[in-house]
Amino acid sequence: MAKVLVIGAGGVGSVATWKCAQAESVFDEVMLASRNEEKCKQIVSKIKRPVRTAQVDADNVPQLVELLKSYKPDVVLNVALPYQDLHIMDACLEAGCHYVDTANYEPLDEAHFEYSWQWAYQDRFKEKGLTALLGSGFDPGVTNVFTAWAMKNHFDTIDELDIIDANAADNGHPFATNFNPEINIREVTSKGKYYKDGQFIETQPMEFSRVFDFPAGIGPKKMYLLWHEELESLTKFLAPKGLKEARFWMTFSDNYLKHLDVLQNVGMTRIDPVMYNGVEIIPLQFLKKLLPDPATLGPKTVGKTCIGCYIKGKKDGKDRKYYIYNVCDHQECYKELGSQAISYTTGVPAMIGAMMVATGKWSGAGVFNMEQFDPAPFMEQLPIYGLPWVEEFID
Ligand code: NDP
Repeated sequence: MAKVLVIGAGGVGSVATWKCAQAESVFDEVMLASRNEEKCKQIVSKIKRPVRTAQVDADNVPQLVELLKSYKPDVVLNVALPYQDLHIMDACLEAGCHYVDTANYEPLDEAHFEYSWQWAYQDRFKEKGLTALLGSGFDPGVTNVFTAWAMKNHFDTIDELDIIDANAADNGHPFATNFNPEINIREVTSKGKYYKDGQFIETQPMEFSRVFDFPAGIGPKKMYLLWHEELESLTKFLAPKGLKEARFWMTFSDNYLKHLDVLQNVGMTRIDPVMYNGVEIIPLQFLKKLLPDPATLGPKTVGKTCIGCYIKGKKDGKDRKYYIYNVCDHQECYKELGSQAISYTTGVPAMIGAMMVATGKWSGAGVFNMEQFDPAPFMEQLPIYGLPWVEEFID
């Protein structure tokens, strides 16, 4: 039995806490902590099992260490924002706790994410005999595990990997992001990048698009090539095993892109400080205040998400095409946990990652990405906690 501390009472934190509470045979104690404890209390008041709450500013390392030393969790599940990753890792090292997150570190003043900052903690986690598991959401997260699963079971070499993410949904708002607006907009307005034959090739934002015919009644949708963090780790760990090309695609509606274009053109997505009436503001942070909170989109969001990996490669000398994916229905998620599917599809694997570490099914001292472990025990838990997966071999 293990104790887990979830940090961040947002959309993902709410689902992750519910799911940790459901995993009674693994987590005998669950705590949710955030900057605003009231939000934690609201979330846990709906959960049948007792879940403790605490107030913590995860950027204040001594304060966080104090909480960790008094609660003594085996594993800390960081579902706050990417800006907090390094501070929470520092606190875990000091207090002796394993660490799990869903998004790699990003500095506040630069729209740029990469694993180097967190991979640099490798020796420190190793010396302390602790595990840090990075990127245990859906993408990154399940997509890394899907790829490792395909590599282990169905391919000798992977020539092309396309990670394909569709949110075929309507949330009733003219413009709303389905996870933290600041992080989401920083991601989609950045330059694109993909991997081919040992090199990364940069593209302009949204430069490449293609139409993909999605399953489960979703049908054809236009998707755009983006740079996404799992490409960095997958190419590092799987290229030596024969991965040659890797791309990430996400669908966007014309309406979303039209709004984004205008917001960019008028400077509302800027992340540098601007003086307004004698006060310094960051336009993107101000915009976040005006946009709907993703945690409140549940009741109105209808439609499905479909996220998976489309893989071309070779098995026993023959060409093979393979598609593995999950379909998640926004309203089903809302009925179960009062959340929309993006928070759900992130919160469930976040809990499973914490479960893998807490049970020792995934163990090791150091900093790890998802594809470095055996995918089987993780794949087994996905349908149990609400994310069934489908495999198709394409002729
Ligand atoms: P939200 O903005 O809804 O929630 C983030 C929460 O973090 C807020 O409730 C906030 O708390 C808390 N927080 C922020 N700063 C601090 C701090 N210094 N100390 C303590 N708590 C803090 O975001 P989401 O739930 O949508 O996303 C959570 C994470 O999940 C993000 O890192 C996001 O990038 C990641 N994500 C990963 C995906 C994947 O597939 N891998 C997909 C979607 C999201 P408070 O309200 O108390 O101030």
